[in-house]
Amino acid sequence: PVAEASLYSQTDQVVVLNYDSINSQLINSSNAWVVEFYASWCGYCKKFAPVWKDLASNITEWKPAINLAAIDCAYDRNRISCAHFEVSKYPTMKFFQAYSESGSKGEVLNANSSSSAPNLRQLIIDQLESHVEAWPPACPPLKPASAAELIDFFKTSSKQYLVLVFEEASSYVGREVTMDLLQYENIVVRRVLHSEDALLSKLEVTHFPSCYLHFLNGTFSRLRVHVEARSFYVDALRMLPGLERRAYETSVTPAPEKNTTAEEWRVFNRSRVYMADLESSLYYSLRVEVGTHITISGEPLSALKAYITVLVKYFPGRPVVMKLLHSLESWLKSHDDPELKYTALERVLDNEVQTPDAALPNAERWVSCQGSKPCFRGYPCSVWTLFHLLTVQAAHSTYTPAPDPLEVLQAILRYIKHFFSCSYCAKHFEDMVAGSMSQVDSLPSSVLWLWSKHNIVNERLAGDASEDPKFPKVLWPPPDLCPQCHDELKGKHDWKMDRILEFLKVYFSPDRILQDYLE
Ligand code: FAD
Repeated sequence: PVAEASLYSQTDQVVVLNYDSINSQLINSSNAWVVEFYASWCGYCKKFAPVWKDLASNITEWKPAINLAAIDCAYDRNRISCAHFEVSKYPTMKFFQAYSESGSKGEVLNANSSSSAPNLRQLIIDQLESHVEAWPPACPPLKPASAAELIDFFKTSSKQYLVLVFEEASSYVGREVTMDLLQYENIVVRRVLHSEDALLSKLEVTHFPSCYLHFLNGTFSRLRVHVEARSFYVDALRMLPGLERRAYETSVTPAPEKNTTAEEWRVFNRSRVYMADLESSLYYSLRVEVGTHITISGEPLSALKAYITVLVKYFPGRPVVMKLLHSLESWLKSHDDPELKYTALERVLDNEVQTPDAALPNAERWVSCQGSKPCFRGYPCSVWTLFHLLTVQAAHSTYTPAPDPLEVLQAILRYIKHFFSCSYCAKHFEDMVAGSMSQVDSLPSSVLWLWSKHNIVNERLAGDASEDPKFPKVLWPPPDLCPQCHDELKGKHDWKMDRILEFLKVYFSPDRILQDYLE
């Protein structure tokens, strides 16, 4: 297998899960889990990683009740685990209740890449509160306390301090402080809603949130803090005399050492397309990306069929690969069931149907799509290359009648919509291209359409966290690659469209594709 390009390391508070550890950690665990399923090549996942790390260190005190983890679904050995948990878009965050049973798929946490650590904390608290049975033993009660319950508190409890956080129903401060102090003995924190009139008037509470200490002798005193907020309450409460941290056993076993080695750098020509990248994109899209869908039906199934059809028609692959793609297309055409199981498709990809001299690569090997680190470039680079190649091949095909100018673009868009696993990339792309396909009225315009849309993406991502510093995003082709594509008009840069078309035709022509590094 290729090297795992984890976005998290042992020094983060995020538990790194893999195919070997995920079930033993999540299933029947005495604490709940929240897991980020991500792909290390996905730009949004890279941007989101600092938020996940920030959240993990921000709720590290909550660990006996809820633990935060991540798994890289782009790593081929983890693919089956991600498919098992029914995740095919990244990043996806899932919550697993304490004592989850084997077969549990978890609950999708309604978070996105613009969520911040505070939003995510609140979502986690909502999920913790949704436990109906098997409440995590280390998790204190989070529901609001009633006056009646509090009156007799010291009669039934041996704790030294009772802390009351008075707040509005929508506030999370009380619950967060409760969680922050769960590892401390001698103290109980409860939230009290501002609707508890009797208690409010007894203590003369007028400010929300505000925090009061109730002592054994029945007296109350307000906690004086500079700002009425979570971190100020927690800091002040941790200073209380006699407060002691409990020794909680952590249930987490560290991830086993990876037995993967960094791959050797493959020397390549930056101005050429390599078949190894194109075949790797087929490998990744058909085996990893489509492979995370346990069953495929309806529009996704017809999108998959359209994708295979354009590959068969326009991919200038090696005979052995083309035979496999042909066999796949015929099998899909003959498949009448409304639902397709990926395991059945996989048998065709593995050529269990025994078409002579047919095979699909069974690993990825990046050449001109290599990144300076394993988390950069790779699959998305190769899939762009494949898409451009397909539009150029359709434009120069000898089919009669000439292909529909939208045939390849539609197949690409439908693939992106249903299978491209970077969910935010897919959404962004769909929004960006919405309505603009009506400009495509010829095969050359379909080539230029994709070229110009890719350049919009390049422009947006220049300087982004997903950019490989060794391969900065530029408007493409840059002048050193195609000087004749550039011009200046009235002091402004101008693209020479006819020259770009000529350039793309040559750049993506089948006889220039280099065959180095193929098995
Ligand atoms: P890439 O942009 O992947 O390009 C690959 C190769 O294509 C280049 O090396 C070059 O040879 C050639 N090329 C470059 N520009 C053009 C062009 N205009 N026309 C023809 N050929 C060209 N990442 C994010 O972080 N956020 C996103 O929202 C996002 N959206 C994406 C949407 C789609 C549909 C796809 C396929 C990818 C998306 N990505 C996104 C990934 C991102 O676009 C890059 O693929 C990734 O960052 C790797 O970049 P790269 O440097 O290898 O070059």
